[in-house]
Amino acid sequence: KLYNQIQDLKGNIRVYCRVRPFLHGQASNMSTISRIDDQNITIASASKNGKDARRNFTFNKVFGPTATQEEIFSDTQPLIQSVLDGYNVCIFAYGQTGSGKTHTMSGPKELNEKTIGVNYRALNDLFYLSEQQIRNSTNKGLSVPDANIVPVRSTAEVIEIMNIGQKNRAVSSTAMNDRSSRSHSCLTIHVQGKELTSGNMLRGCMHLVDLAGSERVDKSEVKGDRLKEAQHINKSLAALGDVIASLAQKSAHVPYRNSKLTQLLQDSLGGQAKTLMFVHMSPEADALSETLSTLKFAERVA
Ligand code: ADP
Ligand code: MG
Repeated sequence: KLYNQIQDLKGNIRVYCRVRPFLHGQASNMSTISRIDDQNITIASASKNGKDARRNFTFNKVFGPTATQEEIFSDTQPLIQSVLDGYNVCIFAYGQTGSGKTHTMSGPKELNEKTIGVNYRALNDLFYLSEQQIRNSTNKGLSVPDANIVPVRSTAEVIEIMNIGQKNRAVSSTAMNDRSSRSHSCLTIHVQGKELTSGNMLRGCMHLVDLAGSERVDKSEVKGDRLKEAQHINKSLAALGDVIASLAQKSAHVPYRNSKLTQLLQDSLGGQAKTLMFVHMSPEADALSETLSTLKFAERVA
């Protein structure tokens, strides 16, 4: 509750930056990070004349390469209580393919108590925190083809459903060879219950969104349907950025209608809803231009 009050004062949009560690076999790669602290990250790039160019970005929170899944979640956890208090919550993972979006939301291939991501932890909390039985609310306002609504009683049941969803993700592979990078993955949990003291009905919902990779496409490399698909993804990510940025700036007009994604999430973006955007970056020097565009996107919505 205290967190909700603090949130209301600060506005309902938070942006966290997460930098993944170097992966095996990349240790010799140069890093783009020159400085990192709790809320700042400074990116360095050598310019043509050999001088260092530095650019600082400030976020609500910056998680460096050694941050654990547990640490990530401890700053996310208050939002889960908000869902039970009747708020709508969106948690997004944004970043180029390979930057760690799925790692944050779901976890790595080997899942255990330490490695599980935000999805699992959030669900565990929801089931744990709720005294009543949690149920899916009726299907209302959802207009996604092939979206399924299923009542669930435990995290395990949700995971099973999510795995089916994963298999249904678009299968065309990218240069980075990740099947999941060409589509957004959205898990929505509807919660309804009676407030014990007042007897009022409370309805909250939580959207956990592992977004498609944000990398720009090189028009010379992809053509036809693949190019259209890539342009479509970039357009929907840009539309999401526009919506969150206009909410952050408290502007009168919020352009929800510019993409299916923002239309779908309209009730959970803005108003009393709470949004958390995890922006992910790879530390490698060869990812510099994507990293800068990711951080600029994030800076705009922060
Ligand atoms: P994305 O979903 O953005 O394409 P992934 O989450 O699949 O990226 O991450 C790419 C690879 O990096 C995976 O092998 C993943 O396990 C690993 N990885 C990402 N973030 C971390 C992290 N914070 N710690 C350790 N490994 C990570
Ligand atoms: Mg992924």
